[in-house]
Amino acid sequence: MKLSVIIPCYNEEETVSPLFDELCEVFGERRIDFGVVFVDDGSKDSTSKELAAIAKRAECPVKVVCFSRNFGKEAAIYAGLEQSEGEYTAIMDGDMQHPPQVVADMVEYLDSHPETDSVAGVQNKRIEGCVLSFFKRSFYKIINSAASVEFVSGASDFRVLRRPMVDAILSVSEYYRFSKGIFSYVGFDTHYMDYVARERGGGKTKWSFRKLFRYAMDGIIGYTTAPLKFLTTTGTIISIASFCYLIFIVLKKLIIGDSVAGFATLASLILLLGGIQILGLGIIGEYVGRNYVETKRRPIYIAKRIIKNDDKEA
Ligand code: UDP
Ligand code: MG
Repeated sequence: MKLSVIIPCYNEEETVSPLFDELCEVFGERRIDFGVVFVDDGSKDSTSKELAAIAKRAECPVKVVCFSRNFGKEAAIYAGLEQSEGEYTAIMDGDMQHPPQVVADMVEYLDSHPETDSVAGVQNKRIEGCVLSFFKRSFYKIINSAASVEFVSGASDFRVLRRPMVDAILSVSEYYRFSKGIFSYVGFDTHYMDYVARERGGGKTKWSFRKLFRYAMDGIIGYTTAPLKFLTTTGTIISIASFCYLIFIVLKKLIIGDSVAGFATLASLILLLGGIQILGLGIIGEYVGRNYVETKRRPIYIAKRIIKNDDKEA
């Protein structure tokens, strides 16, 4: 098989079937031999029924991995990569935002550029609010100044990869998965291809601001020690400043004989330092907590069944 297409789906009952039809049409026209791996990430609607129906009617190889609960998109991508068999592997969303024509263009690019290992879609024109776009820009600034690998703004997990890169990603089996980081971490030559994302074909986005914020924290904590360095720097600055202030008070008392400054200064200093200490504990806690979960070596996902239509094809 030339191309395995991995599609993580969580409550996408409206779009999986039209998306599959579109894939068949586009790849049929472009003469790309392909198979699809759907991962049902514990959907609560009728996505799993839709996927089973697709596997039944499909004329190309289709696998459906059904998770026992919602494990998140990152886990779904990992499960999909494990099941992919093609020479190339594509990862795309199940909501029809990623155009199949772009996947076909990526495949053609890899065909004509043997030295390139992967092609990643970059979304330059985003349809989103200014607050969200401000936070996203800040995220890339912070992470790129601190991390040793590069994070490309606008590049998501919409990609086509060659087999060696798929194997490399699978070898990174950590529990807290942040795919933008893993793609950069494993290296390889990536070509960035501009594309315009479409509107969702139906349903609604699974990302709330809170979820996005947690995800950004996963990235920053997973790929940098910047928050810890920030603590060290803050602690050092405060210690030096306090020491200078101490000397200042002692000298003032000895030379002028002035009494110690008032309650307000004392109270605000205690509160400020208390706040910084709790923040520090929180940051260290984030690292320790992740370490704790990671050392349990729990599986990244649990699949309750895998449907394959290979037999029919054979
Ligand atoms: N998704 C998933 N598990 C989740 C959340 C999302 O598999 O817990 C899938 C979702 O079905 C979709 C893709 O990840 O195919 C991208 O999700 P979404 O469209 O909500 O994200 P957005 O396009 O808004 O960034
Ligand atoms: Mg989407």
